[in-house]
Amino acid sequence: MTSPEGHAAHCIFDEIVAGRAPTHKIYEDKDTLAFLDLFPITRGHTLVIPKRHVDRLTELRENEYEDLFRTVVTVCRRVERLTKDYNVAINQGRLAGQLVFHLHFHIIPRYNTPGPFAISPRTRIREDEAQAVLADLGDVSE
Ligand code: 5GP
Repeated sequence: MTSPEGHAAHCIFDEIVAGRAPTHKIYEDKDTLAFLDLFPITRGHTLVIPKRHVDRLTELRENEYEDLFRTVVTVCRRVERLTKDYNVAINQGRLAGQLVFHLHFHIIPRYNTPGPFAISPRTRIREDEAQAVLADLGDVSE
């Protein structure tokens, strides 16, 4: 089955929400989830999603704005344990670079690297790296 945009109905982020695909969770509540990007642009690259599947920001219901944005800010606070410099971004549509058609905010920490938008090769996160990042990000309660 494909959506009007032509992408497959199967969604990896739905699989993560359902617990059928593994991930490194940063934060979770009833309606939202944050987890490490599998192919991080930088150390600590995190994704924040609504659990309810929507492809795009404009499909969110108004009563979902607050919870989702609260989780974005919660994750930003935790990323600030790594660096005060980061991008918060949403890619909307294929031409804007959206590859996973389940709405997600990227939170991309920036360190001492030139040109935040320079494209560099991305490799799958190693388990030991993921565990080290999770430890550095700490608990929400901290
Ligand atoms: P987009 O290009 O759609 O804005 O970003 C999709 C992001 O999801 C990419 O940064 C990609 O690395 C990440 N990603 C793709 N598949 C998975 C996955 O199975 N698990 C996790 N944690 N991230 C994924």
